[in-house]
Amino acid sequence: MYEHDVLIIGAGLAGLRAAVEAEKLGLNTAVLSKVHPVRSHSCAAQGGINAALTDRGDVWEDHAYDTVKGSDFLGDQDAIEVMAREAGDDLIELEHMGVIFSREKSGRLEARAFGGQRVPRTFFVGAITGSAMLHVLYEQAIKHDVRVYEEWFVTSLIIEEGVCHGAIAFNMHTGEMETIRAKSVIMAAGGAGRVFEPSTNALICTGDGLALAWNAGVSMMDMEMVQYHPTTLAGNGILLSEAARGEGAHLLNSEGDRFMERYAPEFMELASRDVVSRAEQTEINEGRSINGNVLLDLRHLGKTFIEERLGYLQEVAVEFRGIDLSEHPIEIRPGVHYIMGGIKTNVDGATVVPGLYAAGECANVSVHGGNRLGANSLLDTIVFGRRSATAAAEYIKSVDSAGRSEEHLDAEKARIQALLDRPKGIRWAAIRNELATSMTEGIGVYRDQASMEGADAKVDEMRAKYSQVSVENKGKVFNTDLIFTLELDYMIDVAKTITQGALMRKESRGAHSRTDMPDRDDKNWLKHTHVFKDGDGVRTETSDVTITQWQPVERVY
Ligand SMILES: Cc1cc2nc3c(=O)[nH]c(=O)nc-3n(C[C@H](O)[C@H](O)[C@H](O)COP(=O)(O)OP(=O)(O)OC[C@H]3O[C@@H](n4cnc5c(N)ncnc54)[C@H](O)[C@@H]3O)c2cc1C
Repeated sequence: MYEHDVLIIGAGLAGLRAAVEAEKLGLNTAVLSKVHPVRSHSCAAQGGINAALTDRGDVWEDHAYDTVKGSDFLGDQDAIEVMAREAGDDLIELEHMGVIFSREKSGRLEARAFGGQRVPRTFFVGAITGSAMLHVLYEQAIKHDVRVYEEWFVTSLIIEEGVCHGAIAFNMHTGEMETIRAKSVIMAAGGAGRVFEPSTNALICTGDGLALAWNAGVSMMDMEMVQYHPTTLAGNGILLSEAARGEGAHLLNSEGDRFMERYAPEFMELASRDVVSRAEQTEINEGRSINGNVLLDLRHLGKTFIEERLGYLQEVAVEFRGIDLSEHPIEIRPGVHYIMGGIKTNVDGATVVPGLYAAGECANVSVHGGNRLGANSLLDTIVFGRRSATAAAEYIKSVDSAGRSEEHLDAEKARIQALLDRPKGIRWAAIRNELATSMTEGIGVYRDQASMEGADAKVDEMRAKYSQVSVENKGKVFNTDLIFTLELDYMIDVAKTITQGALMRKESRGAHSRTDMPDRDDKNWLKHTHVFKDGDGVRTETSDVTITQWQPVERVY
């Protein structure tokens, strides 16, 4: 048995930021991750991180309003205010830790334009912002002597009398299952993009943290809000960063029109992501597409500019499509990218389960509401990673012990053994693929009652089939067959919360765009959806959105 004051599940930006803070506050801190920390999906973030810096006359209230509007007024405004107000200090602190943000010739930090924002306030490190931040935070964690359980996989949380006391995990190197007791747990296990195919997310983004918290009794809030990013490659879902449009790239249809003129005359290609994705999908549905895609055109930016500022995009274009972006436009389409919904927390990362906190993409503090602005997610991980550690430190002052019992370990060992002992049956891969493609079909850029019911029924069918999945590899060391099977279990749970959230919301708002109910309905639906686990089924509820200073208005870009 291992013991800590705080156990952080996930070593992406949210987890590592929380760890550095917890260690600074003098807590015995551990981080646990199913992959090496710098392979967390945060590493793939290219575009940047938002903050309103006063050295250029920007103010946090403007950032907050752009975020509120971007969220289609579903974000809780108290949480958005916290994030926007604290962004500047957090950004500068990252700089001081060693993140080498790109600078102007004058030496001042350079900002680029990003969607849904009236001024450039996205700070970046070339096209490797996430990677640069993650490496620095990992260094800081090591420097502060954070214990890192690297390549360990969590299979369940320890909940005793309604209080969270740690987790059961297995060490993937040995296959041994272990109890890790902790006075508090911070869930920072990332998103669930792979519940859809194709997706911009890494294969590891299977929603484990969401499912773990859901099974512990926490609400999954606004799960219908799934972000489709406007610029992904057809087939494999690879992301072409919004930085391209931020730096001036155009979107064209098959007739060569800059069609955004008709959908967002003022913001054009830099309207909110939900708006741009819907515009593209409409062009595609109405037959103005090229092979079911539209075009991202960077030609007018010139080769030198593209290679200096958007080098990674040029690499993707050359490697995956064999084209030079300074000579040819590239075919793109909307693809699943991010989950706005997640584990319901307050502004300190606390869930309803004492001792259990959540931060980062798995959490829903409600700063993104119906649609996240590009570059607000990295900010969310940093601000709320830090805040959840501060809150956990305060909480554990009143906790005497993390307990000693090993009974959970025995039960978990028996559960996993039973999975390994199953007779030869279905393979996990077939179910995972069927689940994820049906989710994209049913919960698409546009959806309706029938498509959502279809996806929901498919999730139930996949849940039933899961009982026949067998693990063929019976070995202990790096048994990825077993890990993928356990991930699939999490994915099915997450998919259920998404279809149920979607079926609840009887309007169109943000990313939830129903062709059968095309209008936003503030009178009845300025509300959060909640999906709880209830025995083998679900229970649903709604709650009010917190409005502080901005009343909902029509959203035009
Ligand atoms: C291609 C791409 C580009 C992006 N670009 C941007 C951008 O420019 N700006 C922006 O703001 N946002 C961007 N985003 C979104 C943003 O990167 C993510 O939302 C954010 O980094 C998530 O951070 P996180 O710490 O919550 O989770 P992650 O970085 O995903 O980390 C999750 C951690 O949890 C661990 N974990 C998960 N399950 C288990 C388990 N069962 N047991 C043990 N460990 C587990 C993983 O090992 C990992 O360490 C991008 C996303 C993608 C996919």
